[in-house]
Amino acid sequence: RQAQYRALKDRASVTACGVPIMLQHNAGLLIDLPSLEETGADGIGLFRTELQFMVARSLPRTKEQETLYARVLDAAGERPVTFRTLDIGGDKVLPYMRTFAEENPALGWRAVRLGLDRPGLMRLQIRALLMAAAGRSLRLMFPMVTDVAELDSAKAIVRREISHLVKHGYKTPTDLKIGSMIEVPSLLYQLDAVMNRCDFVSVGSNDLFQFMTATDRGNTRLSGRFDILSPSFLRPLKAIADASERNRCPVTVCGEMAGRPVEALALLGLGFRRLSMSPASVGPVKAMVIDVRMEPLTEAMDAMLSDPLATVSVREALVAYADEH
Ligand code: PEP
Ligand code: MG
Repeated sequence: RQAQYRALKDRASVTACGVPIMLQHNAGLLIDLPSLEETGADGIGLFRTELQFMVARSLPRTKEQETLYARVLDAAGERPVTFRTLDIGGDKVLPYMRTFAEENPALGWRAVRLGLDRPGLMRLQIRALLMAAAGRSLRLMFPMVTDVAELDSAKAIVRREISHLVKHGYKTPTDLKIGSMIEVPSLLYQLDAVMNRCDFVSVGSNDLFQFMTATDRGNTRLSGRFDILSPSFLRPLKAIADASERNRCPVTVCGEMAGRPVEALALLGLGFRRLSMSPASVGPVKAMVIDVRMEPLTEAMDAMLSDPLATVSVREALVAYADEH
């Protein structure tokens, strides 16, 4: 199998009926970069910048951050990289940062919430990203956005940093795209407003599923209790895919489900065309993609979700579909 997957490296990620499907990596450290060549992926769909901060002994200086980001962009070459600003706080604690005990860290003072309340850190990180991408393209994305007002504030910080750099004679990115994670359920009711403010969005299905089902993603007692392929989760995903098309705002799915072939098949059937996953998943997912025909798959998914009374997971039906086709 491994050899078979490796052999797909140079094969285009296109369905049997000719629809291109973008497959990208989730990454976060320098050691993740060589795998881009090994899998032939279309870039980095999610670069988790907090990993550099979590492995460091002290807060990485702006210059250190800039150096890492520049090396990531160098390694990716022409391929796009989406940098996500710090997703720390809650349970992703930095040993060198003062923390506050929180009863529900996953629901706590984390990610963009912390970034907006203590903008010093976020400002310097954005500056490092802008400087690393001077003279080239930059894709910047914010985690744990709960309300579009947070996007407005975050974008204001970006604008301010750009003015600062211009004023001091630094080169800025030639092209800047701003995106939002969709991983907090409240955004499901602000989809048009989010997409109106963004150049792209990315579904964090790990957190979205955790928050929608009120199920701690790290609690092994609960893992497998609810199926991510249940209509109650697939319907909101479909709403995101539809909103993406309506608003012409590209959407990626970057949660773990995107890297599992049956789940990825469901995502294609819902209308998603961009998936980001761990490098080891690219081969298995590409093997699925090149066998898929979109028309019957879309019809099958629509049929599975059309009955408003349907509540049981479509997993079995999807596996049967995959075997048949
Ligand atoms: C997610 O929540 O699905 C996601 C991709 O982000 P992280 O796993 O880093 O929370
Ligand atoms: Mg997340």
